[in-house]
Amino acid sequence: MVPHSSGNVARLRLKRTPHTIARWRGGRIVGMAGVLSNLYLIADETRLGAVALGVIDTGLPTDIRRLDEFIRTEWRGCQITVVAIVLTHLHFDHVGGAMLAHNLMSAPICMSRPASALFTSASAVAMPSVGDWSREILPIWAKQGFGVPRVYDLRHAWYAGLPRIRPRDLVTRPIWLADGDGVPGLADWTVVYTPGHTIDHICVVNRRRQLLFSGDFILNFSGHGEFNQFVTDKAAMRASIRGLRETQARFVFPGHGRPFAGVNVGQRVTDVSQSSPKDTGDTRIS
Ligand SMILES: [Zn+2]
Repeated sequence: MVPHSSGNVARLRLKRTPHTIARWRGGRIVGMAGVLSNLYLIADETRLGAVALGVIDTGLPTDIRRLDEFIRTEWRGCQITVVAIVLTHLHFDHVGGAMLAHNLMSAPICMSRPASALFTSASAVAMPSVGDWSREILPIWAKQGFGVPRVYDLRHAWYAGLPRIRPRDLVTRPIWLADGDGVPGLADWTVVYTPGHTIDHICVVNRRRQLLFSGDFILNFSGHGEFNQFVTDKAAMRASIRGLRETQARFVFPGHGRPFAGVNVGQRVTDVSQSSPKDTGDTRIS
């Protein structure tokens, strides 16, 4: 049985309780705290008895098994179609379960067009330096709950996001998404190209409802969100921050940390190169 709660963002307990499920926006957004990162579902109940689902990031294989179990329980009796599995970027804590998700859910994997270079060139996925690991990444995972990946996860997640290993085995025929593209099968959801943390990073936004899936671009351990401090391209990051603030998002669902909300929340996310803004808004999402 998958534990779950509803309504209040505060109920997404990320610490030491992997696989907690929470729902927002009348159940149209579902979040699951994975072992190392958050996974999300966009649920579009298109007509009676039918639901189209989008998956945002796939965590590790263990997470995908639990998410698949949840989907089957939650929409039992419905005609379920997973229309897209969107990867925000090719770091293994976000894409380790991608192949398993693709196979279990019979859905296409979508990733940013710049990620295609990582399949065809000699460039590896940018990963943190040893210093960054200790300063930035380990604390993030510690706050996330520092779940320990199983051998099973590592065996099945080696193909992406590791230094000097190209993600060549990460599925055939992905759908490449460019800035401004719609997410296949999900009306109102579009891609914002946000390089900086990595060259291939994308966020997924619903401008009409002011919702934003921010991957590793915005994290939230402060309560009002913060731009990721692990940056591989500072100039690109600055440009991405400017672009993202124009999306006018009110509700942010980060790859690590709790979802949060507020009026024009992107303006108040902490830019580490600037002083920290005050958290003056509502941080609940209902
Ligand atoms: Zn990352």
